[in-house]
Amino acid sequence: MVKVYPKRSRRERSLYSLRMRASRDGFHVSGAERILSKDRISAEIVDLFNRAIGHEIGNPDEIHFTIEKIKDEILYTASLPISTILTECVEDSRKKAIQVLILNRVSEVAISRAFEDISKGASPDRKNMRGAMIIDIETGERLESDSYRGVRVSRMDIGEEAEESLKIEMKRIGVEGFRVKEALALATKVSMAGTVAELCWSDNPDYTVGYVASKRYGYVRFPNLKKEGDINGGRAFFLRRSDIDFNGYINFLQTKSLLITKVTPGFSPCIWEEFLKRYED
Ligand code: AMP
Repeated sequence: MVKVYPKRSRRERSLYSLRMRASRDGFHVSGAERILSKDRISAEIVDLFNRAIGHEIGNPDEIHFTIEKIKDEILYTASLPISTILTECVEDSRKKAIQVLILNRVSEVAISRAFEDISKGASPDRKNMRGAMIIDIETGERLESDSYRGVRVSRMDIGEEAEESLKIEMKRIGVEGFRVKEALALATKVSMAGTVAELCWSDNPDYTVGYVASKRYGYVRFPNLKKEGDINGGRAFFLRRSDIDFNGYINFLQTKSLLITKVTPGFSPCIWEEFLKRYED
């Protein structure tokens, strides 16, 4: 269960939302979200600029930075627990990812919709979406209002202290880079919004790790949820439509600021049977 901590006085200092969006010929290339203090903004802009300009998908011809002082209340929380399941191949990873979704009571029709759409490009023109699709957990219906763009989750990050413990956890499981940090922040926010489960794999052809995230089972990574060289990727948020105020849900994902102050270790690396057993216990 993700805990929300009350605001503490030392956190009352001003924090800023820094967002980067890079595109080429009007198509999204990369993006990033940070929540940080003023003194860290300039160094972070340099880092994000270097990342955007050298992106594997193609050099962007436009990079936008937005810096905004956060005036609304910020939510502070612990991350979803991180588990990494050892699998043998793409088929094995997908089979187990599907099982985690079934354990979360996502229907077969909704699961098939997500896998099919992400695999062939989830927007109507069969390109990757910039944001996520939202899928009704029972009917498999797509609920996002703009199925070309999808819904982009914004204003979330992992705080400095939590990032240090994340680095230790990542080193322990032999993982490097910014992806886990950013995906964990996103997945934690998405689960707090009331999403039953999330399925994701990257559109980067060299990055084959994907995950299923949920409040019940945490952020569960699978080493190869797609084949190397595959340019398709995306995100699906599974939702029980009847249980949710849809506009409030979208508003939370897009505008509420959330900072992770503690990283929760799960079970990594872990064989499937052991993972199931730990959650049954
Ligand atoms: P990435 O993990 O950055 O390669 O992103 C994989 C896919 O997730 C993208 O193709 C988008 O469809 C989706 N995505 C990326 N960032 C976000 C975001 N902030 N909110 C919602 N969906 C996103």
